[in-house]
Amino acid sequence: MSDTSVKTTCAYCGVGCGVSIPHSNDRTVQVRGDASHPANFGKLCVKGTHLGDVLPLRKRLLVPEVNGEPASWESATETIAEKIRSTLAEHGPDAFAFYLSGQLLTEDYYAANKLAKGFLGTANVDTNSRLCMSSAVAAHVRAFGEDAPPINFEDIDQAELLVLAGSNLAWAHPVLFQRRMRAQQADGRKKLVVIDPRKSASAKEAHLHLAIKPGADGQLFNALLVYLAANDGCDTAYIEQHVENFADALAAAKEDVGTDTAKQAELCGLSEPQMLEFFALFANTAKTTTAWSMGLNQTESGVDKGNALINVHLATGRIGKPGANAFSITGQPNAMGGREVGGLANQLAVHRAFDEQSIQQVGDFWQAEKMATKPGLKAVDLFDACLEGKIKVLWIMATNPVASLPNANKIREALKHVETVIVSDVIGETDTLNYAQIKLPALAWGEKDGTVTNTDRLISRQRPFLIAPGQARADWQAIADVAKKLGFTQAFNWQNSHEVFREHAQLSTINSGTPLTFNLSAVANLSFDDYQNWQPKQWPLDGKTDASRLFGNGVFATENGKANMVPVKPVTPVAGNHRFVLNTGRLRDQWHTMARTGMAATLNKHTNQLEVHLNPKDARSHGISNGDLLNIYSEQGEFYALARLEAAQNPGELFAPMHWNEHFAGKGGVGNCLASTVDPISGQPASKHSFVSFKKA
Ligand code: SF4
Repeated sequence: MSDTSVKTTCAYCGVGCGVSIPHSNDRTVQVRGDASHPANFGKLCVKGTHLGDVLPLRKRLLVPEVNGEPASWESATETIAEKIRSTLAEHGPDAFAFYLSGQLLTEDYYAANKLAKGFLGTANVDTNSRLCMSSAVAAHVRAFGEDAPPINFEDIDQAELLVLAGSNLAWAHPVLFQRRMRAQQADGRKKLVVIDPRKSASAKEAHLHLAIKPGADGQLFNALLVYLAANDGCDTAYIEQHVENFADALAAAKEDVGTDTAKQAELCGLSEPQMLEFFALFANTAKTTTAWSMGLNQTESGVDKGNALINVHLATGRIGKPGANAFSITGQPNAMGGREVGGLANQLAVHRAFDEQSIQQVGDFWQAEKMATKPGLKAVDLFDACLEGKIKVLWIMATNPVASLPNANKIREALKHVETVIVSDVIGETDTLNYAQIKLPALAWGEKDGTVTNTDRLISRQRPFLIAPGQARADWQAIADVAKKLGFTQAFNWQNSHEVFREHAQLSTINSGTPLTFNLSAVANLSFDDYQNWQPKQWPLDGKTDASRLFGNGVFATENGKANMVPVKPVTPVAGNHRFVLNTGRLRDQWHTMARTGMAATLNKHTNQLEVHLNPKDARSHGISNGDLLNIYSEQGEFYALARLEAAQNPGELFAPMHWNEHFAGKGGVGNCLASTVDPISGQPASKHSFVSFKKA
């Protein structure tokens, strides 16, 4: 019997697992793993398994609304177009902005990017991917010449040593972690090192857990570079042929951490033997892969930390080789696809920056009316500009910034200063929708039709298996409708998502003949049927490059083909009036601000209330018992949570999950307390490291 199931991709994390849905238009489907999908080979985590639980129409936004009244799409898009037209005439292009999301499909991102950067003349197109990936993006560009992660998930299996830096892979990317556990069970010589201040679920499975001082990851990798250089651990032939700036990077590392290993260990909050055990393991294991995540990215030196980590891999020639690699694990299902089209304010499109030649080439391809000529505002700066009244029209798609950006009180205030807030969303009630004058109903997972790219550059299809409810419409379609009302009919006259994707692939051919690897020229003319039948493929798709890993031949995406070791001295923040370090992160069974997973009874069983983890000694000194209600406060604001005493939590440090929003936690969650401090290069907020105080409520 032929398989009539619909093959699509999980809506959650950047592993991008393939799922299989029995053919049905019933909203009570049983989700199964797709055994043929190379990201997961049929495995799913608990969130993926329960995707069917979030399909009911309860709480859905089903019709457009303008100023609190139901409206037709015709009148809602006309209202938006008229507002954009008058705003640009009076205040110029930079008074308009998009704030997008790694939940969007590549086709949605492409449409938004093209409208803003090619037709409205502003690069104010930023995304919640700024909050999770932008430091890694900048680190990739500085080291490799391009935001091109060299990884293949097979490296997770093949590495003799897997190092997880600032990643609780077991909870945030469970299918990858389980894959590693299986590889270790099959070969007992394989080792796992976890660098994390907390004894996380991943750390509990590690051969060596380095409970590092919060923020000291950069110092640890600088100390490792010093150790490798002093102990004959560098690959001098590889460095000679393929790497720039080894000497400068080493000198900076020595300036940063010195050469005394006892002092280095103290800087990192580790015992010297433990630190040296890690260094020896790293030095002696050729097949080492290091994966990093939010623990490095969401800090005030996230870019430098990413480069400190990449430096030790370049110094040992361990990039782009089977089992010997370094990569940042993408948080969201399509953060990567968004980066590919240019969905960050500092990128133009297809990995091009705002240089004269790129502006010309992209503008020619789009037959642009008005090209943006400089980078736009990054997320935190964008909302600051809203607060200052500089942004008059803000179109937010598929994200809930009031709950997810730091300093939530400032974000609430900022949205009040925008004349017209447009929110495209699936759900009818979010913290952010409270501030919207115009609400647009979007398609949900199971209804959407397009593509996503996962952590190892695998482009997969999200396919619909449900009929769109009410008046819900594809996000790319909503953007195209507004663009056509603005008079850009020819440029936005796509009939379906296939035509949008094909145009994106065609634009990428401008990278042919450049050092850049992002190129989809082999699929630039794919037919509708080819798009429908698309099997997961890694980019580059240029018809000649082996896409399984990048840079394994030692040729990088720079003018001279060499990688760059970046001299770095990452900083760690200093406590002010509030002395407890608040670390934030994901739980195993929740996603983002719980707009979807909060509806699934099974997922809520894992942790059903907002809890703050703290060490029993700190609890005792504050007169707090397990389960007490706490008031956590900082310069920015406060939130309430139940105390959860955890011996595995270091004294002086708290941990709180990022997920709880106003609907689940009254006046909001951790975002109320987080400072808006950002990495100076990437603009990524330091959500892993704020200072707070707490008391019994
Ligand atoms: Fe979905 Fe990520 Fe779980 Fe895979 S690991 S099923 S992509 S949430």
